[in-house]
Amino acid sequence: QKRILLHKRPEGMPGHEHFKLEDGPIPSIKHNQVLVRTIYVSVDPYMRGRMEDTKSYVPPFKLGEVIDGGIVGKVVSSTSTRFSEGDYVTGHLGWQEYNAADEHNLRKIDPDSAPLTAYLGTLGMPGLTAYFGMTKIGLPKEGETAVVSGAAGAVGMIAGQIAKLHGARVIGIAGTDEKTRYLTETAGFDKAVNYKTEKNLHQSLKEACPEGIDVYFDNTGGTISEAVYPLMNDFGRIPQCGAISSYNKSGDDYGPRIHPFIVKSRLRVQGFIVSDYADEFQTGAQKLGTWLQEGRLVYEETINEGFDSIPDAFLGLFEGKNLGKQLIKVSDE
Ligand code: NDP
Repeated sequence: QKRILLHKRPEGMPGHEHFKLEDGPIPSIKHNQVLVRTIYVSVDPYMRGRMEDTKSYVPPFKLGEVIDGGIVGKVVSSTSTRFSEGDYVTGHLGWQEYNAADEHNLRKIDPDSAPLTAYLGTLGMPGLTAYFGMTKIGLPKEGETAVVSGAAGAVGMIAGQIAKLHGARVIGIAGTDEKTRYLTETAGFDKAVNYKTEKNLHQSLKEACPEGIDVYFDNTGGTISEAVYPLMNDFGRIPQCGAISSYNKSGDDYGPRIHPFIVKSRLRVQGFIVSDYADEFQTGAQKLGTWLQEGRLVYEETINEGFDSIPDAFLGLFEGKNLGKQLIKVSDE
């Protein structure tokens, strides 16, 4: 079977040279284990942090070892009483075609209630991130204005729609015209701004948000945030979900000049990690599932084909190649 290891640790922008694709044995399963055939692999921006040997909320990938992440697969064989051959499962598993997984690291998923891919996107980690970031920290209210950066990604497009479901006016910031069109024409955003082509992002946002901004769901940080902060209304809320603009910076990264606005407008900026809300995942997933079924939430995916394309798909996240959740299809459902 094929598998992908971390070959070198990157400084700055990672490339193909940091990964190693090789053949390895199909693992055999022990007691209470399950052999899972990989169908979909999720690549996520936080994995960039795990490529470095620094302390964070998840330990770094180990050099020369198989990289791991979110996977959806099918049970091939099982010594666990909880899973049988043919079950569809999701879990945190290795970037390889087959994984021997402990039963407590897997969750059964139902292909009849949602497409398998949704369990890595809107009904999985990214959707839950949007849900808890918005409903626990952003707290959008009827008539307020919410801005989302990284708005056309897996988390951002759901975060914006959740703000809309709470009655806010929603403005998205994304990096291509295809993405801004998707946000307004399909995802129901009121406006969307292309931060790469706008000459003056601050001015465009000012025009898009005549009543200021009450909630800023921030996936990017950097100069995008610098354009947003001066427009924040008093007592605005900022769920700090990510800071993708800085993940590949090596050396000093001088932050945006946001602090005076935090004081002046009494902003509440709160970083969070989705696992902070692990006790409530079931409630969150149920809520998201209901909205999907009712057609009140839409999502998009970019699916690359073939195991070998995993590094490409991962690297593409930092060039904005994906609309919605980036996945790789490794084998047939
Ligand atoms: P996305 O699907 O949004 O993919 C990443 C997107 O980020 C790209 O498509 C690109 O879109 C944008 N991007 C890339 N580089 C830059 C840059 N330098 N400046 C601005 N935008 C950039 O990924 P996710 O939805 O999975 O994740 C979004 C954010 O949420 C990330 O920061 C991630 O780390 C964070 N996150 C946090 C979690 C938590 O628990 N706190 C959990 C999950 C995600 P574009 O074309 O618009 O540039």
